Amino acid sequence: MSTAFFTHDSALKHVAPPGHAESESRIEAIWAALRAPEFAALARYPAPLAPEAEVLRCHPARHLEAVRMAIPAAGWAMLDPDTFAAPGSLVAALHAIGGVNAAVDLVLAGQAGNAFVAMRPPGHHAEAERAMGFCLSGSIAIAAMRALDHHGLARVAVLDFDVHHGNGTQALLWDEPRAMFVSSHQMPLYPGSGYASETGAHGQMINLPLLPGSGGAEMRAAWQEALDRVRDFAPELILVSAGFDAHHADPLAALEWTDSDFRWLTHAICDLADDCCAGRVVSTLEGGYDLTAVAASVAAHVAVLMERDDDRNSGDEL
Ligand SMILES: [Zn+2]
Repeated sequence: MSTAFFTHDSALKHVAPPGHAESESRIEAIWAALRAPEFAALARYPAPLAPEAEVLRCHPARHLEAVRMAIPAAGWAMLDPDTFAAPGSLVAALHAIGGVNAAVDLVLAGQAGNAFVAMRPPGHHAEAERAMGFCLSGSIAIAAMRALDHHGLARVAVLDFDVHHGNGTQALLWDEPRAMFVSSHQMPLYPGSGYASETGAHGQMINLPLLPGSGGAEMRAAWQEALDRVRDFAPELILVSAGFDAHHADPLAALEWTDSDFRWLTHAICDLADDCCAGRVVSTLEGGYDLTAVAASVAAHVAVLMERDDDRNSGDEL
């Protein structure tokens, strides 16, 4: 098998207003990084357009309609002080959902060992009826529900290491006992939720608030303990909201993680996946706003996914 990589040109059509941190340059920087020779073995796929019915797994039809109505003919509409819509935004959001869904389908079909999806807009802040935090719709929560309801899995885990709390994913999966959700995030920071006391309707959520400046050692200790609890839950698929804005160079936050911390965390997630679900990890881009840092961190993350997939394949041959 191989590591699959999903992306699509529509990610560039979600054109950001001048000076906005969540810009199409992020995707271009990631594409440039993944053109390096060590990524030649990636199995590259276009992220398909998700049918609108997929959005309805987590959002009411009126949310989709509200986003559609907000799309401007030219320029930008601001859905809140942070969250913009450009003429190409809804199509980009549907390709972002389609990319994560297609990655789930491929990995569950055994046609890829694991996968990374680089699309935008991101998704983990979008609530059922509220676009927010640069996000229009909850791509990873939709993929989790697809894995459960379409593929019939009994349990999935969603692991979110973006520096901001995944409030949208938490809200969309709050009542879903088959989906465990873990989020580490800087606190205090936008959006302000993610206290350790927020544990989901079934005790299936773990929030790991981290202090500004706490660094890699604190993060590793917190995740090690959380991943042991996820191991007890025995997920059949692991989904990752991979935000790289905890990087020390990121302008939006101050957790001070390094490329080596992202590498460690990716290995820890793959260890869990090896134990629980034959290595099945589907990871998707969320934040990360320093272009050099996000490109390097994505490269580190994807390199570990590829290495771990290779290790599993060589193990199979023994
Ligand atoms: Zn973020």
